[in-house]
Amino acid sequence: MSGNNGRMDVINPATGETIEEVPVSSAAELDTAVAAARHGFGEWRGVSGLERAEIFHEVSRTLREAADELATLMTHEGGKPYVENHDEVGWTTACFDYYGELARDSVGYLPAPIEPQQLALVVREPVGVVACIVPWNYPLLLAAWKLAPALAAGNAVVLKPSEETPLATRRMHALISGLLPEGLLGAVYGAGEVGEALVRHPGVDMVAFTGSQETGRKVGMIAAERLMRANLELGGKDPFIVCDDVDVEVAAQGAVWAACLNAGQVCTSAERFYVMKPIADDFVEAARSFVEGLKIGDPMDPTTDVGPLINEGGRGKVERHVGEAVRDGARIVAGGERWGERGFFYKPTVLSGVGPSMRVMRDETFGPVVPVVEVGSLDEAIEAANSVPYGLGANVYTRDFEKMLRCMRGIRAGTVWINDPLTDNDAAPFGGYGGSGIGRELGREGLEAFQETKHVHIDPRVEKKEWWYPYGRDDEPGRRTI
Ligand code: NAD
Repeated sequence: MSGNNGRMDVINPATGETIEEVPVSSAAELDTAVAAARHGFGEWRGVSGLERAEIFHEVSRTLREAADELATLMTHEGGKPYVENHDEVGWTTACFDYYGELARDSVGYLPAPIEPQQLALVVREPVGVVACIVPWNYPLLLAAWKLAPALAAGNAVVLKPSEETPLATRRMHALISGLLPEGLLGAVYGAGEVGEALVRHPGVDMVAFTGSQETGRKVGMIAAERLMRANLELGGKDPFIVCDDVDVEVAAQGAVWAACLNAGQVCTSAERFYVMKPIADDFVEAARSFVEGLKIGDPMDPTTDVGPLINEGGRGKVERHVGEAVRDGARIVAGGERWGERGFFYKPTVLSGVGPSMRVMRDETFGPVVPVVEVGSLDEAIEAANSVPYGLGANVYTRDFEKMLRCMRGIRAGTVWINDPLTDNDAAPFGGYGGSGIGRELGREGLEAFQETKHVHIDPRVEKKEWWYPYGRDDEPGRRTI
C-alpha cells in the first residue's frame, strides 16, 4: 500500500459512468483506525450484554430508517436491482437484532468439575481487533454477517469494503459508528493492497474475509504466517438437481431465479443444473420461456428483474465461459449475448448440451447462466454435484422425502436447500465445504467464530494435593502409589 492518498473511481455498472472518486486510505490512516479500534475494544469490554443488545437494536432501527438511501447507493455503485438492495438492508438489520440477543446468552457454560466442590467454567471472550474484508455483491449484508457477531462478542472491527462498492458502506459507517464507543468500528478504503496491509497489521488479531478463492488463499497464507485466526468465506459453483416428480414449471422458475438473482453474482448462485432425463426437454423449454420474459435494464426501476454485471471484467468472464461451451458443442437456448448500448449487461442465458469438462460447469461463472445437463439417476446427479472443488450450497427439487434425505446426506455442501433455493437464515450457519472456505458465519457458529474459549478451574479449598511431589515407593505408607 502506498503512503500517499490515491483515489479510486466508483463506477455505475448500469451506465459505465464514474459516480465518485473515493480516497484510498493511507498507511497512516490504517494505523489510526487499528489503534482507535484497540482503544474502543477496551471501552467495549465494560459494556454489558444487555446494553450491547440495546445498542444493536438502535443500529438496526437507524439502518431501517435509512433503507431507501442505502438501497439507492448500493444500486448505483453495484448495479443490483433496487428491490434486491432494499431487501438487503432489511436482512442487514435483522442480523444486528439477532446477534444483539444471541450474544447475551452465549458467554460460556459450566462443564462438570473434576471434584464435586470445584467449579469449572468455560468462558467465551472476544478475540480482539478483527479485520473484516468483504466483496461487492452484498456489501452491507456480508459486512453485517461479520461485524454484528464480532462486535456482539465484544471485539473491535476495522472494515474494508470492496473498491467497487465503498459508498453504501461508508454511509452505513457514518450512521452507526457514533452509536458505538469511539473507534470501535473503523473503516478503511481501497483495493487489495489496503486489504493485505490490514491483514498484515500487527494490531489486528483476526481476519474475517469473504471473496474469491484466489484472494482467500492469499489471506489465509498471511494469517497462517502470523498464526492468526482466519474465517474464509469463498466462492462456489452450486449444483441444482431437479427430480422428475416435481412441477417442471415451478422448478424451472426457481432455477432461473437461483441462477439470475443479482445477475448471477451471488456466492450461492446456482451454476450447474442436473435434470432427470424424462423432464429435461420440458425443463429447458420452461427455463427458456421464463428467461425470455425477464425485464433487463435500469436497476433503479422497481420493475427491473436483472441488472448489469459489476464491471467489464465480470462480463468478459461470462462471455468466455459461454463462448467456450458453445465452441465445444453446447447450444444457446436463450440469451448468450450482451444487452443494451452502455453498462455491463448480459442477457440471462440458457445452455443445453453442456459437458462436465466445460469451464461453465467447473469454474465459478458469476453470471446469469443456466447450463443444463440431463442425468439418468439421482446417484448420478449427486456424484456430479460433488465433482468440483467447491462446496458452498446446493439445491434440490423433489417431492419424495426419501430423495430429500439421500441428497441431504450425499451432497457435500455447507447448505442444502430443498424446494426453496437460496433462502438464508440468520439462526443457521452458512459457509463452505472444501474449496468454498474455512469456518462458518451466522447462527451460533457465526458468533463462536469471533470468540476465544477460556477454561477456568476453581477449587475453593487451599489444600495440598496428594499427587504432588514427593513421589514415593509403593511400600512406603502415606505416599502416592501407582
Ligand atoms: P475478491 O476476492 O476479488 O475481493 C474480495 C475483497 O478482498 C475485496 O474487498 C478486495 O479488495 C479484497 N482483497 C483483494 N486482494 C486482497 C489481498 N491480497 N489481501 C486482502 N484483501 C484483498 O472478490 P470479489 O470479486 O470482490 O467478490 C466475488 C467473490 O466473492 C466470488 O468468488 C464470490 O463467490 C465470493 N463470495 C463469497 C461469499 C461467501 O459467503 N462464501 C459471499 C459473496 C461472495
